[in-house]
Amino acid sequence: MTGDASFPTAGDAESIARELWGLDCRAEPLAGEVDRNFLLVAGNGDRWVLKISRENTDRVDLDYQIEALRFLEASAVAQFVQRVLPTSDGQFLLPYDRGGSGSCWVRIFSFLNGAPLVNIQERPPALLEEIGRTLAHLDLALRNFDHPGAYRNHPWNIERTHDLAHYTEQISELGRRELVERHIERFRGEVVPRFAGLERSVIHNDANDHNLLVQSDSNDQPLLTGLIDFGDSRHTITIAELAITAAYLMLDQECPLTTAALVTAGYASVRPLSTAEQSLLFDLIKTRLCASVLMSTRGLHLEPENEYLQISAQPVWRLLERISMIDPDDANRAFKDACAQSGTPVRSTDEILAIRKNHFGFNLSISYSEPLKIVRGADQYLYDEDGRRYLDLVNNVCHVGHCHPYVVAAATQQMAELNTNTRYLHDNLAEYALRLTGTFPEPLEVCFFANSGTEANDLALRLARAHTGSKEIIVLDHAYHGHSPSLVEISPYKCEGPGGEGLAGHAHKVPMPDAYRGPHRGPEAGAGYAEEVCRVIAEIEGSGRKLGAFMAESLIGCGGQVIPAPGFLSGAASAVRSVGGVVIADEVQVGFGRVGSHMWAFESQDVVPDIVTLGKPIGNGHPMSAVITTKEIASSFVTGMEYFNTFGGNPVSCAVGLAVLDVIEKQGLQQHALEVGTRLLDGLHELQTRCPLIGDVRGLGLFIGIELVRDQETLEPADTEASRVIDEMKARGFLLSTDGPLHNVLKIKPPMVLTEQDVDEVLAALDEVLGAFG
Ligand code: PMP
Repeated sequence: MTGDASFPTAGDAESIARELWGLDCRAEPLAGEVDRNFLLVAGNGDRWVLKISRENTDRVDLDYQIEALRFLEASAVAQFVQRVLPTSDGQFLLPYDRGGSGSCWVRIFSFLNGAPLVNIQERPPALLEEIGRTLAHLDLALRNFDHPGAYRNHPWNIERTHDLAHYTEQISELGRRELVERHIERFRGEVVPRFAGLERSVIHNDANDHNLLVQSDSNDQPLLTGLIDFGDSRHTITIAELAITAAYLMLDQECPLTTAALVTAGYASVRPLSTAEQSLLFDLIKTRLCASVLMSTRGLHLEPENEYLQISAQPVWRLLERISMIDPDDANRAFKDACAQSGTPVRSTDEILAIRKNHFGFNLSISYSEPLKIVRGADQYLYDEDGRRYLDLVNNVCHVGHCHPYVVAAATQQMAELNTNTRYLHDNLAEYALRLTGTFPEPLEVCFFANSGTEANDLALRLARAHTGSKEIIVLDHAYHGHSPSLVEISPYKCEGPGGEGLAGHAHKVPMPDAYRGPHRGPEAGAGYAEEVCRVIAEIEGSGRKLGAFMAESLIGCGGQVIPAPGFLSGAASAVRSVGGVVIADEVQVGFGRVGSHMWAFESQDVVPDIVTLGKPIGNGHPMSAVITTKEIASSFVTGMEYFNTFGGNPVSCAVGLAVLDVIEKQGLQQHALEVGTRLLDGLHELQTRCPLIGDVRGLGLFIGIELVRDQETLEPADTEASRVIDEMKARGFLLSTDGPLHNVLKIKPPMVLTEQDVDEVLAALDEVLGAFG
């Protein structure tokens, strides 16, 4: 500790509390493995714990523990963890110098009631389940916590248990040595490779029965009151938390597997386990027991006389020997059943397919001939039930990355606080309306909130009709704007496809402004397509009707990732406005910085629409949408009929929307989309020079299409080839899809956090897959 062997005494602890925290307390020594701990009791009965750490303790380590506990103060497990007491000037960790004999670090924590579980023999199922649930809540909260200290080297890092293998030589009993050697070998060869794709996060990492505190309730039943000692906490596979907790709770239990199953049921009821996690649990329990016996073997080697080490290792050895006789299939089944009891049952792919077949609306589709069961997403990746990782190149909904922790935290915090509607005043709504409209050029300054792209487009139609007094609308061929009757009947992609009833009488289509395949090509294509709009306007007017609106995506998604021929949108807009019509830009797919050069795709097309609709990426997967328009149009909509949307613009959605805008801004995602998008486009253009199947490569930022053709002259669409490319890419871990009227366009619109390394990997895989077509 310091040069003075008697330090710290209770008197030292009392003076530290008084001098540094201004607390007048009586101090009593408490047990502690690493730190010297004292219970501080104030005159009014308040209790605290003073921790004095050795002078060579790593500061990062202590800061880490303090930050983790402070983070948890605002979480669902706040009552179970110690609070860190700041000094009057807001410090949580202080050096304490004992006049020349060295210094140490001091901290004060709140005191948690309860006794260590190790003192309690009776462990009823309710307690075991509660421990499981609490650890799961802790892990969910810690998902959003990160700190450099979480990555330090550590002998208790379960992922590196095989690094302890050399201590097996020091196990004197041959049978036990072989048992551990066998397991470590299996761990290294068969368990570690299955970690890929598992959820990773900061965990407590040591919920043993000295660190779990319990107290009797009024019926004399033990209740969990606390979880202490974050000294071994670190970032690792999240499932290790449950395995470690279960391993310790199983010690000296009559039915250890039942004990573990109860803890698992509790845990999985809060944080469901993936199939991969379930199947690893038994191996990980054995792994932690092996780590424990190896660490005590190492301790015994250093201190052969230490009786405590000898005695404390015995229950671990007994449990390890006992569960090594359990058939792993039986254990896995017990854990699977435990998970099935809690929350949503985990079903096989076939079972889910059968349920879909009988109980889902019959016209839903499933991607891929061999459907994927995706159980988790993080950043630009999706993970299937076996923990296999896929790079998601198509999901423009999870715009800032799947399950972005900042967005998840914003949603869960607001959900825990309040959710109402636009009829109450709320800061989130006001802030979001300001922030969102602030990203648009004038005169787009009024917003309406809704819940899906369809709702936003439907509202846009109502606004246009209210403003112009006309339903007549011009749309692009192959366009899709939504699934309600009002939108299906103006979406050629739907109403002119299978099951469709054709365009409504008030809807008129013009060709897609596709300069690669359409009727107008070359530098004049934009003007040619704009001329088609003029032609249709003349037809409408000629029949005595009046144009209401022109609706188009700023860049065309379902039509096959088409970038409008230059000059088309601005030309069409002026023609439409010249006869009193309004321009509706559907940015449901393409907004929020995806084009890289601008926040909104229409800005890249030199036009300012009258109404803009937003959806998909707006909530990073949370269902919400918006319509932005001018004051003038919004005023025309004041007809006496209220616009009320139960969920549209609720405080949770607005918190999510704000978080998405924050992330786009703070992570510089618009600029990032420009940089990685350009790298990908450059790579694809280079690939095109070597690959005759690629007819056209087009895109802006991270909105990219690759059109495949059998013949560069006739442009015969390579549709079956496109499907094969999708399957081959899936087999290599890349999720892509096809689109376009001829089903021959590979579409790329990934989460905006795609990295340069991902781009290089996609290009290498496409090179291989497309190259195989000769
Ligand atoms: N507009 C466009 C351009 C779309 O792509 C979609 C959905 N694919 C919609 C509107 C409808 O959005 P939602 O499915 O959220 O109703």
